[in-house]
This record gives sequence, C-alpha cells and structure tokens, in this order.
Amino acid sequence: MHLIDGKSIALEIQAEVRRNVSLLEGRKPGLAFILVGDDSASQAYVRAKKKACSVTGITSTLIELPRETSETALLHHILSLNTDPNIDGILVQLPLPLHINDRTVMRSIDPKKDVDGFHPINMGKLLLGEEDGFLPCTPHGIKILLNAYKIPIQGKRVVIVGRSNIVGKPLAAILMQKKPDCNATVTVAHSQSEHLAEITKSADILIAAIGQPHFIRKEMVRKGAVVIDVGINRLSDGRLVGDVACNEIAEHASWISPVPGGVGPMTIAMLLQNTLSAYVKNSLL
Ligand code: NAP
Repeated sequence: MHLIDGKSIALEIQAEVRRNVSLLEGRKPGLAFILVGDDSASQAYVRAKKKACSVTGITSTLIELPRETSETALLHHILSLNTDPNIDGILVQLPLPLHINDRTVMRSIDPKKDVDGFHPINMGKLLLGEEDGFLPCTPHGIKILLNAYKIPIQGKRVVIVGRSNIVGKPLAAILMQKKPDCNATVTVAHSQSEHLAEITKSADILIAAIGQPHFIRKEMVRKGAVVIDVGINRLSDGRLVGDVACNEIAEHASWISPVPGGVGPMTIAMLLQNTLSAYVKNSLL
C-alpha cells in the first residue's frame, strides 16, 4: 500500500499560488471569512485557512459573529462584502447555527466571490460542465490529488459513500465529467443504500465521506483498490481519525489517503487557488 501525501501536493500548489500572487502589482487578492458562533473545529479550520492566506500573500479578514446573530444580520455582512472592491472571495464557515438557513446564506454570496463553490450558480455550472465557475474545494482537491499521483480515473468504477452538497454530490459531478482526466463511472451510496459492502467492494476507487470513524472496514474494500478518506472525526481521546479503518486495509488497498495529511490540506490549497482566480476574474470586470 502506498500513501497519498496530500500535504506535499498542497504545499506545491500553495507555492505556485504564492509565486503568482507575488507577481501581482498593487492590490493583492482579498478573502473574507465569516465565522458565526464558537465551534472549536470551525475556529481551527478558519485559523488554518487564514494562515495559508498569509503564507501566500493573500490578504484575509475575519468577521467573527456571536452564535445568536440573526440571519438578516449575517446577510447584511455578506451584502457589504459583495460590493467591497478589496474582497475577491467570501467564505462563510459551515456549519451555521440551526436558526440560520445555510442555503439562503450561500445564495446571498455574489457567485463571482463564491470561492467555496456552494452557490447554486456555481453548482449548476459544475453539473453542466461549464468551466467558468468555482469548484467546491474538497471534491476538487480529491480530483487533483488523484491526478497528481497519476491514478487513472477514466473508465474506472468510483464509489463515493456520502451524498452531501459539499462533498459527495459535487465530487460525483466532477469525476463523471466528459474529460480524459475524469470520465469515471460513479456510484454514490448513502445511509439508505442496501448491500453497501457489495457496492463498495466493486470500486476501483473508493471515497469515504461519511463522518463516522473507521466505518470502512477491510471486508468492504476490493484488493488493490485506491481508497480516499475524506472523514475528519475527533475521538474521545482527542485523536483525529478518518472514516476508513486504515490499519485493517493497509495491506489490502493499493493507495490510501491518510487522515490527517490527505484530503484536508488539499481543501485549503484549492481555496487559495479559487481566491486567486476570483481576483483575476474580478480584475477583468
Ligand atoms: P454529512 O453532510 O454529514 O454527510 C454524510 C453522508 O454520509 C450522508 O450522505 C449520509 O447519508 C452518509 N452516511 C451516514 N451514515 C452512513 C452509513 N451508515 N452508511 C452509508 N452512508 C452513510 O457530512 P459531510 O459534510 O459530507 O462530511 C463527511 C465527512 O468528511 C465528515 O467527517 C467531515 O468532517 C469530513 N469533511 C472533510 C473535509 C476535508 O477538508 N477533509 C471537508 C468536508 C468534510 P444520508 O445522506 O442518507 O444521511
């Protein structure tokens, strides 16, 4: 079994973004984060993303709002960022408190500043195969990771476990695109799928985006399969683990992306890339 080192690929992408940003004269790309509430995992994600911005020369600002912030107040912040000429990208960290409708919030972000790629216009463009939108960072990062390791996708049977709007669904759309570096035959499984192990065992590339520690066991994986672990789960002893029982399948899979150090860093790298391309697009307007 070989490890897919997402961290090193992400660092290469980060270095390229930094080179490109350093060549820009005048204003640098600007990314605004909005964090509502005090969820510690969300705070850690935003800290990591902000740090990556500062390493690459992207200017970032953080708007921190209390948990009880109303949806209307949040929308006001977004509308003001939409018209701020120094802001190229807007990222509202999910999950939002339950009293706020995250779909309404995503829809209020200017699609040209939607560097998370969750706006219906960008999701629609992805589904239609139009290339001028923003791709959601985690699924795009997974595709780039497979390409970087020259793991063939074309013609392969990909099984994604998880159908969320931020990972499973857009990932399926990306990997089934009619392009030589995609062209996969994609199956998406979820909590209501029957005979899940039979489905996962048919995968050349198995992608777990479930949110349950060590859910994917050896008997669910075909020998020689490529396994991508998207899950980030915090155990009661503080350890961070994925959705895949990595130790069990170590001798079974051909490639595996570890947690941490696999998909996570790629998500941040794609965010940096999206912010730079938002800057370029917005500068051309
Ligand atoms: P989510 O919205 O909770 O979706 C989980 C999906 O897993 C759902 O489609 C659910 O099915 C499915 N599922 C749950 N239990 C299942 C079961 N027993 N059998 C089969 N399918 C099952 O989660 P998410 O936002 O997609 O995130 C998934 C994981 O990836 C989490 O651990 C999250 O922290 C991690 N993540 C990591 C990154 C990164 O950068 N590395 C980014 C985003 C998310 P139903 O639809 O039927 O409920």
